[in-house]
Amino acid sequence: MKSMHSDPIPQTYEACLDRDRVDPLGGLRAQFALPSDLIYLDGNSLGVLPKQTAGRLSDAITRQWGQGLIRSWNDAGWFDLPRRVGDRIARLIGAREGEVLAVDGTSINLYKVLCAALGLSGSRRQRPLTVLSEGANFPTDLYIAEGACRERGARLLAVDNEALGDAIDAGVDVLMLTHVNYRTGAMHDMAAITKRAHAAGALIIWDLAHSAGAVPVDLHAADADFAIGCGYKYLNGGPGAPGFVWVHPRHANRALQPLSGWWGHAAPFAFTSGYEPAPGILRYQCGSQPILSLVALDEGVSTVLAAEGLGGMAALRAKSLALTDLFINRIDRFAGNHGLDIVTPRAHSARGSQVSLTRREGAYPMVQALIARGVIGDFRAGNGSTAPDILRFGFTPLYLGFAEVWRAAEHLQQVIERAEWREPRFQARHAVT
Ligand SMILES: *Cc1c(COP(=O)(O)O)cnc(C)c1O
Repeated sequence: MKSMHSDPIPQTYEACLDRDRVDPLGGLRAQFALPSDLIYLDGNSLGVLPKQTAGRLSDAITRQWGQGLIRSWNDAGWFDLPRRVGDRIARLIGAREGEVLAVDGTSINLYKVLCAALGLSGSRRQRPLTVLSEGANFPTDLYIAEGACRERGARLLAVDNEALGDAIDAGVDVLMLTHVNYRTGAMHDMAAITKRAHAAGALIIWDLAHSAGAVPVDLHAADADFAIGCGYKYLNGGPGAPGFVWVHPRHANRALQPLSGWWGHAAPFAFTSGYEPAPGILRYQCGSQPILSLVALDEGVSTVLAAEGLGGMAALRAKSLALTDLFINRIDRFAGNHGLDIVTPRAHSARGSQVSLTRREGAYPMVQALIARGVIGDFRAGNGSTAPDILRFGFTPLYLGFAEVWRAAEHLQQVIERAEWREPRFQARHAVT
């Protein structure tokens, strides 16, 4: 098998078609019900529907629910589903069996682990606690941290990316970071930052929303403390799919999460009075879980695990980098003439699986004009002076090919050169961008 690393960036459309023909991961696209007239560059926001999902859901509804009814909590394994799906996600993030749950949502899981981490730190410190994060983190992460800190009397410090290294000092108790930034696609060095946090005496929480299924992650190798992530992005679990949570085994039996519901009780069906936390990761459940959504997530995770026999995450990563290299290379040819900037790092080690562009004017209508051409990316609003508007393109190597990436860049060039984006129909803002 040829190594993806050494292959040069294709310089013609025909060369892209050739690359697709010999792509060892090319067959994985057949797992998806992806409309053939779309170039889908938004798998980082909502992954594509796997072909098996409808059948699995139909079975869960008509047979398991319809016929099995209440018996299916045992017979169909509904009760264990968060743990079983968690075990499969564990394989993608360097965690072990019994350490991960597919449960609740990303925001809620973040609240749980942040409070658990503050609880661990609080037992060691007398002074008010400090949570450090990045101002450029995904807003919900900072909103949740604001709420948790308000309740716990802790302080939230959100600094610029450049100031992060110096801000990790002995005054920090919990460092809460997102591994791959949702706007820029910049990726942190998980192992190095975790080491630095530990040296300062802090615990670390990694948000893997844009990492799980997109880039190789090894939580144990990095020696992280807590991690959470998202099921509906690169894991293809469907809209609003449950997220996941991981806690290092050294903390799992010590830390308490605050949503002490009955599913996280040591004996939920004993119906005893008084909360007694279940051992390990199981205490990170709260109440009844959305079984149908978990079934869909299980299928989504299968589409990523299907790469295991083909080189796994390392092979997916190599293809993802080759696709983003190609996109960057094509955009570079016209970006300068049209005021476009590529904000995603060019260094492979600092790049996730997306490419983000900025332009002083027209980012939103450009994305709309691309969507009208069947090229689906998305727009992320800036916040005035510090962060510009972003045209965001996600590259999911499970179902994207080189020729599509070539054509996507060509479409963007035409949208700009023909001033198509100035058409009034592309200016109206939708509720979800
Ligand atoms: C997508 C994403 C979320 C989503 O949170 P939900 O609770 O699933 O809505 C949270 N954090 C980050 C960093 C994300 O990228």
